[in-house]
Amino acid sequence: MASSSPSSTPPPPTATATTTTTTTTTTTTTPKYHTSLLTAQHCTGHVHLILGSNPLAAARASSSLAAGAKPILISPVPSSETPPDPSPSSQHQLHYSLASLIASGSLTHLSRPFADSDLFALGREEVDGVVDAVFITAPPASASSDLDARQIRHVSALCRRHRIPVNVVDSPELCSFSLLSVHADGPLQIGVTTNGRGCKLAGRIRREVAAALPLGLGAAVERLGEMRRKLVQEQQQQQQQQHQDASTAEVDEGVDDSIDQPAHLNKLVLQGDAEAEKTRRMRWLTQVCEYWPLRRLAGVTEEDVEAVLRSYPGGGGGGGGGNGNSNAEPARQLPGVPSPSGAFAPLPPPAGRIILAGSGPGHPDLLTRATYRAMQTADVILADKLVPAGVLDLVPRRTPVTIARKFPGNADRAQDELLAAALAAYRAGRTVLRLKQGDPFVYGRGGEEVAFFRASGVPDDRVAVLPGLTSALSAPLFAGVPPTQRDVADQVLVCTGTGKKGAAPRPPGYRESRTVVFLMALHRIEGLVKELTQAAAEDDGDDGDEEEEKEKEGKAARRRLWPLTTPCAVIERASCPDQRVIRTTLRFVAEAIEKEGSRPPGLLVVGRACEALYAPEKGRSWVVEDGFKGLDWGVEAGPSMGVAGMA
Ligand code: SAH
Repeated sequence: MASSSPSSTPPPPTATATTTTTTTTTTTTTPKYHTSLLTAQHCTGHVHLILGSNPLAAARASSSLAAGAKPILISPVPSSETPPDPSPSSQHQLHYSLASLIASGSLTHLSRPFADSDLFALGREEVDGVVDAVFITAPPASASSDLDARQIRHVSALCRRHRIPVNVVDSPELCSFSLLSVHADGPLQIGVTTNGRGCKLAGRIRREVAAALPLGLGAAVERLGEMRRKLVQEQQQQQQQQHQDASTAEVDEGVDDSIDQPAHLNKLVLQGDAEAEKTRRMRWLTQVCEYWPLRRLAGVTEEDVEAVLRSYPGGGGGGGGGNGNSNAEPARQLPGVPSPSGAFAPLPPPAGRIILAGSGPGHPDLLTRATYRAMQTADVILADKLVPAGVLDLVPRRTPVTIARKFPGNADRAQDELLAAALAAYRAGRTVLRLKQGDPFVYGRGGEEVAFFRASGVPDDRVAVLPGLTSALSAPLFAGVPPTQRDVADQVLVCTGTGKKGAAPRPPGYRESRTVVFLMALHRIEGLVKELTQAAAEDDGDDGDEEEEKEKEGKAARRRLWPLTTPCAVIERASCPDQRVIRTTLRFVAEAIEKEGSRPPGLLVVGRACEALYAPEKGRSWVVEDGFKGLDWGVEAGPSMGVAGMA
């Protein structure tokens, strides 16, 4: 339900106010538009009073029943003993569907006028008889109403005075809440409100959103929910057995659907991390929910869920799936998969082909034509988990796709599985596309993969590498950050925030005209900021910056520290519909991520360049920009829009 306040009254500022389109908000500003606090009410056993006898009353009764509530209809129009007449001309009868609900015993009908005392007498015993909500289904001006305009205003005022939620159709000023236009599919519900701007429009948007969803998503939500419930239960049992501290129960994502993935679920897991081993399956599930294309999620079967439950702990694990045909263990499907580290038999001719291709930062329009062609012609596609749905949607339905089972703590194993699968398919004479995110040679392990295929006996002319737009440069662009600009920044460093086996790499020294892009860094942002801004014991001057060392004329040059006031930007899911940019400084960036949650994948850009095209507003610690419009210029905005991606 959406709480609704009269349009003349400005809404109270709430800390949770954010936008879903490309507008700028902060944690401190009042929203520009009147918005409502959307909540999902748990109505089991609640008593809902419905006043009226029209088709809308029937619709309200049905929604109420669907939510587990007990609707009571109060209308002086008598319930007919005879079978209801469906003709619209029968004015003095209850609406046909109301009569059916009453006849079936689902709806209680009090065939008399409403009395004020009903509000305080017909409700549940545990709340002293006060009803839980009131729906008045004819507007005050309507002649068909059982109540006249004055009575309706009176009932509305009485309800609001006693904090009984009340809704009067077409009369926002008399409502304390309004109803959403709802799409329901099993346990999945999607509600839309325009906050009084038009229910037809809300209905249209709801239909379009629902039409964009794959069939069977509701059932998949049910299955994955069941899996999650089992995992949580199992873990709780383990913890009880081992008398463990309850604080290790980090697996629960919480029941609040309004928050992004908490940062801790994406945190670094080192090999041999015993705690993380225990949460392996939950991490897998979290990553599946976060990264799998919805179409694939919708295809998850009971067997898939069972296979995943069986396969962890103790190695292996489920993941991936054929294109549109989900399968929990696709890497094992391919025949003759050898251990990637083991010895291989001589390759039988004729050989297949391996194409390593970058798919760009996310938006399908950012694929190169070469990669697109490879996607259309490959026999098998082995994709990294970061390759987003929009890109995978372009894969022909006939082509099997396996998605890497990468999640914190399983990266190496997932990589080995994919390489083994690629080699097996290649040996079977097939064209294998290793589809990677961004550019395959920029932190994509592309070089390692080429070396692996070489070492496994694949001739060089059977391996092709296709470039892709790297997120390291395109994400800043879509956030309006030019990594180089005369008089602002004359060099760009692309770094990782996480080294091999999780070790923290040596941070780059400060230089005013330097832009640094950190990939794979947001899960340890606090540590990274510390390393950049504070001296460490091992700072012996060797930061690889020859110029700096020369400047110091042979003396041990200390790594120059980054001022806390250095501008920076966190750019998440660049070029995807849910792109988010947080503009701030090194001082506040860790706090901003903690407060706003994480929306991986994301990167950090540090340096003056972050303010080359953006002037920070005084007094704001950070600013959040939600949404992606960087490629809309051809459609509606026109070339005058300026910098791609800027609101
Ligand atoms: N080969 C990839 C990088 C792989 S490393 C490339 O060239 O883009 C994975 C890291 O890339 C993530 O941790 C994140 O820091 C960054 N990344 C990938 N896609 C991104 C995107 N769409 N938006 C922001 N960062 C992204």
